[in-house]
Amino acid sequence: MTRFGIGYDVHKLAPNRKLILGGVEIPHALGLEAHSDGDVLIHAIIDALLGAATLGDIGQHFPMTPEFKGISSVELLKRTCALVAAKGYAIGNVDSIIVAQRPKLAPHILPMRERLAAAMQIELDAISVKAKTEEGLGFTGTEQGIAAYATASLNK
Ligand code: MG
Repeated sequence: MTRFGIGYDVHKLAPNRKLILGGVEIPHALGLEAHSDGDVLIHAIIDALLGAATLGDIGQHFPMTPEFKGISSVELLKRTCALVAAKGYAIGNVDSIIVAQRPKLAPHILPMRERLAAAMQIELDAISVKAKTEEGLGFTGTEQGIAAYATASLNK
């Protein structure tokens, strides 16, 4: 049996924050505001995995409590994979899109995929990360924030 899930997330760009996407710190003047490290890509992937397993959403498992303040989203992803595995599912593949006007993300795609594959204990071939701009339109285009979309398949 194969199941599918979808995830979406947005965080605001702000000064004096690190920009962390897919577990990789990316040099940039702005970073993402959040209770955690603001890794919008990982948050979308987590919701895709939880959705595929009918395990609710990221806010239910990792609320805005002191326990999760400033936590690495890679840690949250590892915990999510444990929840999915505990329900008897193996990850098939993950696909994702980061929507950001800047910075250029192409040089960071492979490091992100490597970091995510290691965290999820899946093959590099099972994790896809793509990056797009919205041509200067909307909140991503005007650099107010970064969005991410993800899908995941699980097998049992
Ligand atoms: Mg988030």
